Amino acid sequence: MYRLLKFMRRSFATQFYQKYQTIDLKAPIVSFTFDDSYGCTFDHAGDLLWQREFHGTFYVSFKFLGLKSQPNFQLAQLKRIVNQGHEIGCHTYGHIDLSQISRAKAIQDIEYNQHRLSQLFPGMKFQNFSFPFGSETYPLKKFVGKQFLSARGNRPGLNFGNVDMANLKSIKLYEQKYSIKDIEHKLDMALHHNAWIIFHTHDVQKEYTQYGCSPEYFDQVLKSCEIRSMAVRSIDEAQTLLYKPIQKLHFAQVGS
Ligand SMILES: [Zn+2]
Repeated sequence: MYRLLKFMRRSFATQFYQKYQTIDLKAPIVSFTFDDSYGCTFDHAGDLLWQREFHGTFYVSFKFLGLKSQPNFQLAQLKRIVNQGHEIGCHTYGHIDLSQISRAKAIQDIEYNQHRLSQLFPGMKFQNFSFPFGSETYPLKKFVGKQFLSARGNRPGLNFGNVDMANLKSIKLYEQKYSIKDIEHKLDMALHHNAWIIFHTHDVQKEYTQYGCSPEYFDQVLKSCEIRSMAVRSIDEAQTLLYKPIQKLHFAQVGS
């Protein structure tokens, strides 16, 4: 019953509120995104990206700050990825399933996450959002669509042509699910379509969960992008390229 209700709410949200943007790139863009605020991911993925002068997007729920069990992170870990130039996105404060609470409560929770960010990093504002559990509802999708530049869901696929910026498609970067060969196939598809390909994962650590991957796997995926001369950008950086066509020329030279 719960699943059916969630499915219906999600379908309604998908159909009745969209924030369309035409994406017509001259070369593909790859974005790596991380949900749920795992400190290990900040450390491992943050470093591996930064060593290559790439930036990722870490969608943070401040509820996980200082917790004992995973997912958890420390303020020093967050400060480190901010200093490395990575983007901090919003994943709600309480990591809530938006289909399970009222619109008012959900908005309060999202705004509280921004409040915590502002306390710790005065002046910093979340630009982009990701739906916890990929769970969208019509009223919240509408709110999020207006509040943020983009929202990322977990529907699989590439972003090109007519794209719903309030529900960006993404590919799971789950080591148990996809081999490096599978991921390379998806990268080749993005190359073929000049698409914006967004990956999402959770924990990046040696003993990874079924929703994450090892640092070695992540490193290999980055190498696969480099071999293909594909530009890796945070969600925020990627959008700058989408909206300013003149920068596509500069972008096309990256990695050549
Ligand atoms: Zn999540």
